[in-house]
Amino acid sequence: MDPASDWKEKNKSIRVLRAAEKDRYGVIAAIAYNIEHILGFVKAAEVAQSPIIIQFFPWAVTYSSGLLIRAAADAISHSSMRDHIVLHMDHAQDYDLIKQSAGQLPFDSIMVDMSHYEKEENLSKTRELVAYCQQRGIATEAEPGRIEGGEDGVVDTAELEGSKTTPEEVDDFIATGVDALAPAFGNMHGEYDARTGPRLDFQRLHQIREKVNRRVSIALHGTNGFSPALLEKCIAEGCTKINVNRIVLDNYYAHLRQHAATLTHTQLMEEGTQKVVDLTVRWMGICGSAGKARLTSESSSQHL
Ligand SMILES: [Zn+2]
Repeated sequence: MDPASDWKEKNKSIRVLRAAEKDRYGVIAAIAYNIEHILGFVKAAEVAQSPIIIQFFPWAVTYSSGLLIRAAADAISHSSMRDHIVLHMDHAQDYDLIKQSAGQLPFDSIMVDMSHYEKEENLSKTRELVAYCQQRGIATEAEPGRIEGGEDGVVDTAELEGSKTTPEEVDDFIATGVDALAPAFGNMHGEYDARTGPRLDFQRLHQIREKVNRRVSIALHGTNGFSPALLEKCIAEGCTKINVNRIVLDNYYAHLRQHAATLTHTQLMEEGTQKVVDLTVRWMGICGSAGKARLTSESSSQHL
């Protein structure tokens, strides 16, 4: 089957990231592990009038048999911000799971991450899966080079050696038809060295951006421990999809650890959700996306 010719105009992920590129801000792409996170991210978008990308690791698909993803889609569809909240699968590394998810779950975009294969196989598998997703109106992201490390829910590449993205790889991967690239330029998954912090190769990011030349969006991965200033610099250098994990969830975890033994479960959930809202709203401000998702009269009515 051929994709509808105007699928890119209709795809929410592409629309949201193109708007960010045009207006030079970053969109928070936050990993959700549970219902409190889903509710917190949707609420944060409403409070800040900001776009957001809610993303899941494949872990969430298998753990919940797709329930968490369908729950997020339901929460989005009932939100006044529904045109500005994207549903994404991050680091999908399993060929069959990608096909199954693209066919059965309501993702706007999927990161087709074949970076655990060597380059040629990575490219050919990426090409095939990108076409499969496009036929279903789903946008894709890929990782040229290899970002080091692992995070809770995606650890497969943790033992493989990282390699920084080259300008040649940028062209090769754009040729597969992807809509976003996640370059490796010294960024890593998980925790950075506590003494040095992140040491990013901005010269390389600059070269990559010039090579990309707005043909696709640039996704920033590996932001645990980033300062606001460092994130702002990455956005100024052209990153628009800002993958975050701990920087919007740290206060939620601290609250959980501190109060799990004393609060009722409902209080723990409600207050935990609010921790997610508050910290996400703060980072939306830093990314410059707050106020960018203006309500239209059509979208402002709540659907129940
Ligand atoms: Zn990543």
